[in-house]
Amino acid sequence: MLPPDPDSLDPQTPEDWDAFRAQSHRMLDDMLDYAQQIRTRPVWQSAPATARASFAEPLPRAPGELADAHATFMHDVLPYAVGNVHPGFMGWVHGGGTPVGMLAEMLAAGLNANVGGRSQMPVEVERQICRWMRELFAFPESASGVFVTGTSMANLMGLLVARTQALGVAARQDGLKDARLVAYTSAAAHGCIAQAMDLSGLGTSSLRRIAVNDRQQIDVKALAQAIALDRAAGLTPFLVVGTAGTVDTGAIDDLTALAALAAREQLWFHVDGAYGALGMLTPEVAPLLAGIELADSLAFDFHKWGQVPYDAGFLLVRDGARHMAAFAAPAAYLRREARGLAGGSPWPCDFGPDLSRGFRALKTWFTFKVHGAERMGAAIAHTCALARQLAARVQATPELELLAPVTLNIVCFRHRGVPGGDSDSFNREIVGDLHESGVAAPSTTTIGGQLAIRAAIVNHRTRAHDIDALVDAVLRFGAARMS
Ligand SMILES: *Cc1c(COP(=O)(O)O)cnc(C)c1O
Repeated sequence: MLPPDPDSLDPQTPEDWDAFRAQSHRMLDDMLDYAQQIRTRPVWQSAPATARASFAEPLPRAPGELADAHATFMHDVLPYAVGNVHPGFMGWVHGGGTPVGMLAEMLAAGLNANVGGRSQMPVEVERQICRWMRELFAFPESASGVFVTGTSMANLMGLLVARTQALGVAARQDGLKDARLVAYTSAAAHGCIAQAMDLSGLGTSSLRRIAVNDRQQIDVKALAQAIALDRAAGLTPFLVVGTAGTVDTGAIDDLTALAALAAREQLWFHVDGAYGALGMLTPEVAPLLAGIELADSLAFDFHKWGQVPYDAGFLLVRDGARHMAAFAAPAAYLRREARGLAGGSPWPCDFGPDLSRGFRALKTWFTFKVHGAERMGAAIAHTCALARQLAARVQATPELELLAPVTLNIVCFRHRGVPGGDSDSFNREIVGDLHESGVAAPSTTTIGGQLAIRAAIVNHRTRAHDIDALVDAVLRFGAARMS
């Protein structure tokens, strides 16, 4: 046996390893307890100054005990997270995660795989996910896919593939020059589409935000007119971004109509399916997504409706060669070989800007393997059923008003408050009361100029009981504020 090596960061003696192992088991148990007992906790609570102070320390120069660091985590971090593991969390669009995903993250970290490339099984696991997604979305064999942080990044990358397609690969060297590329999306699209225009150098003023109809879907006629106007003005339309599940209301654009228009106009058709695309897993939602199989590129997240722990975004591109043409870069230190560890080209780093990348595929693979696509789909369908339950209760309650039709799992409503009162601030305060009570955590948005309480039911743990608790609390806080 080798003597201890004080320069290594591993435990050293067999006794060190035994102590480390015992502490590891306690840490694992704490997180399993967290998941099992999540309902005994508030959804959210504000972190006290003492907890914040624990993270305002100078750089620790000397070693400390693992058990002490763990205790600080348990005391000052865990109770004050955003709360999306909790079934009462209904804000924004956050997935709930699973214990299976957590364990897979641990395995991935233990392997410490750098999945940028090279000949290794972790790359093959990522390719397996890509093949599954081709199957799920009926994309051809030629389609490529790559894990990224989230849909914000995947949308940016989709836009860059479209840009390279429009300008030719030479643009990667020559820049935009005087290209006057214009993109189109709906007024209900996520803000990261405009951000992608900004980051790509095309500029947000080259994004046309087309009006939506009363179901919050892009107005396809208005889109066609906008394209014609831009062409007449000498501009170059190049990209249409459809949304499958808008962040405000869960609306799904008419993807078939968008695909037809994009084909007619020879534009790249990208779909932002951040949370909605995985609706393909349930026969209840899949028909609403018709046309998604026609996209040139599709961005979505496994960390929302897919319940995979953060982060796990994905970009799927119909034509893998075009995808690669936008990102692959020859570099001597990344040379590919026919044999050995430097084989197995193309590599994930050829499909995006990341070189070093974590093993996001593993937690996704475990999630599908253990829960199966059908159960994952059933969980998605259940969130939609809960949304309908919430909408029905809102409509049956005179104090409440539904503010948008419910397409999927998002319900926007308000408390009517006192006639003539400031409804926006009244509802904003109710949401603040809800958050601070720890009972439920919806977010807010603006629908038709009115502040809405927005409940996005994404978490597989949420039940009918939690919907009732939300409504009861809204009525209780509303009444208290009116009295
Ligand atoms: C969440 C979301 C995004 C952003 O995705 P991230 O994973 O948070 O980067 C983009 N578009 C829509 C419709 C979303 O719901």
